Amino acid sequence: MPHREILSAAGLASAELTGGDLVVTTPVDGSEIARVKSSTPADVTATIARSKAAFEAWRRVPAPRRGELVRLIGEELRAAKEDLGRLVTLEAGKILQEGLGEVQEMIDICDFAVGLSRQLYGLTIASERPGHAMRETWHPMGVCAIISAFNFPVAVWSWNAALALVCGDPIIWKPSEKTPLTALATLKICERALARFGEAPDGLIQVVIGGRDVGAALTESPDVAIVSATGSTRMGRTVGAAVAARFGRSILELGGNNAMIVAPTADLDMALRAIVFAAVGTAGQRCTTLRRLIVHKDVYHKLLPRLKAVYDGLPIGDPLQPGTLVGPLVDEAAAVGMERALERARAEGGTVHGGGRALGNRFPSGAYVHPAIAEMPKQSAVVCEETFAPILYVMRYETIDQAIAIQNGVPQGLSSSIFSTDVRETEEFVSATGSDCGIANVNIGPSGAEIGGAFGGEKETGGGRESGSDAWKAYMRRQTNTVNYSRALPLAQGIKFEI
Ligand code: NAD
Repeated sequence: MPHREILSAAGLASAELTGGDLVVTTPVDGSEIARVKSSTPADVTATIARSKAAFEAWRRVPAPRRGELVRLIGEELRAAKEDLGRLVTLEAGKILQEGLGEVQEMIDICDFAVGLSRQLYGLTIASERPGHAMRETWHPMGVCAIISAFNFPVAVWSWNAALALVCGDPIIWKPSEKTPLTALATLKICERALARFGEAPDGLIQVVIGGRDVGAALTESPDVAIVSATGSTRMGRTVGAAVAARFGRSILELGGNNAMIVAPTADLDMALRAIVFAAVGTAGQRCTTLRRLIVHKDVYHKLLPRLKAVYDGLPIGDPLQPGTLVGPLVDEAAAVGMERALERARAEGGTVHGGGRALGNRFPSGAYVHPAIAEMPKQSAVVCEETFAPILYVMRYETIDQAIAIQNGVPQGLSSSIFSTDVRETEEFVSATGSDCGIANVNIGPSGAEIGGAFGGEKETGGGRESGSDAWKAYMRRQTNTVNYSRALPLAQGIKFEI
């Protein structure tokens, strides 16, 4: 399908794709596909004001009714899955299967949030005073800004948006400057749902377009109660500090440096498939991409030749074409970053397999690369950094304690996994003394999470949690209520205070 048809099938009219200041290119071939208008500081101010007004009305709507809007968004997403999935591929460069998977994830979180809208439960707590009841209630928090990264241009927004909406918070989305089109197309999907819903306040779901200045305007505004920011650790340091300085609430989902331990008892066939999907899926541009493989010395010589053979045959190509497993990197800067990291890996004693440029003749302006395996003598400096490209650093270990120490020995703490059929090792890995990550898996890779669990990580990954479990609590304010239904006024801790 020609690029223009993908854009129009996603509901984007040519008038809104021309004449703007922000140039949008497709990683498929590096060509320009649109020029959209960035939001001005005045636009952002007006957007925040509309959102604030929307909060006044939306917080009064009963939560299950708010859930009905999210149900309609889910329905509209089902109808638009194919078109939006293809646009994700065109704009972010991930293969079509993953583009469709990303929209499915949006649908899944809408379903989850609809159920959640009837389950925003608080606690009842035993009071020490007679005739008193204590309970905890949850209330809408306020305007929620969602700053998203290019690599999951729509799914990460939906994890936040579906929850924020049922929790009673209006949302303002600032997508990555690399992927504004998927945001504009998603907004149109939401507008169809809003029209069917009929009674939502204006400004409930809004989008602002631009780079870090536009993001900073949201981050610094005292009228924005929650800033959920997904992206690099560098971004998180700035955003986290700015929100904390005004005592706002932030949810930070930052970089990962995810590992897999392959133990001597591992099912190597399964491990091999898991490694390849986790290391080269989305061309190594997932926050949960497998970047460090920690292999027991006794199985290293069995696993590595098989892994290299699979890498040699990986179908690299146009992500819109079926059969492609590895699409392009997002842009030239990402390919240069990969080359630099591989040079450093060599300088730090590594042996690199693969890693060169690919498809230069067919796509001279695309950033296609051969995924790389770098066998490292130890976890050196370059291994401790997140390079957003398909580089898999491989290291040997001898004892499980040593493997866990290597796994935990990086600044990031997002995702981790172990392949082992020894229950002592696997339980150790998920115990208090095991992996220090927000996600720790057994006999599956570190990537490809489901929406039912809380998603996020520790250390430089930022500590935020989104999506399932009780992640919704971050979008609401907690209130403790003590109600005295007696005819006396006893004080807590038995304090006597007679007047
Ligand atoms: P990025 O940090 O360059 O940009 C992310 C977003 O932050 C963009 O919308 C950008 O405009 C905005 N931004 C940047 N600086 C800002 C500032 N000072 N104030 C306000 N906004 C600012 O990240 P990217 O290259 O788009 O995405 C890749 C990174 O995102 C990787 O590090 C990856 O691990 C991470 N990521 C993490 C998760 C997660 O859930 N932990 C998910 C996806 C991506």
